[in-house]
Amino acid sequence: MASIFTKIIQGEIPCEKIIETDAEIAFLDIMPSAAGHTLVIPKLEVMRLEDLPETQAISLMRTLQQVAKAVSTAFDGIDYNLILNNGKNAGQEVEHIHFHVLPRGEGSPGPFRKHIQYAEGEMQEVGARIRNCL
Ligand code: 5GP
Repeated sequence: MASIFTKIIQGEIPCEKIIETDAEIAFLDIMPSAAGHTLVIPKLEVMRLEDLPETQAISLMRTLQQVAKAVSTAFDGIDYNLILNNGKNAGQEVEHIHFHVLPRGEGSPGPFRKHIQYAEGEMQEVGARIRNCL
């Protein structure tokens, strides 16, 4: 099903892109819970994990691992949550499967409890920092 992420994939809506492969795209979350909060999505328009063909699920996991490692390295080996809100009752708002890579510093609030706002130009700096660690 088409969603806001379809527009991001098609380049109709700008994003701070971390990486794009044939099958996936990763970009910074626009309403981050922490600096470096990144979304990793397949280009295929499916809502739930089990809707993805197995080969695409494997490919997504490969890219997820690569991006998660880069996010952590960019922030000095920071811990992180990998979160998939799979379905409305699980908190999924955008109906296109996406993994959150959510950096967690010491004493940081639990996932989605707080949002931060990037200062002017900071989102681009964070994006570059993560891309440099790919
Ligand atoms: P969900 O609750 O569906 O797991 O999370 C959806 C995420 O997508 C939210 O964290 C939200 O901030 C992010 N998001 C929604 N629309 C956009 C957008 O247009 N651009 C970007 N970069 N992130 C978005």
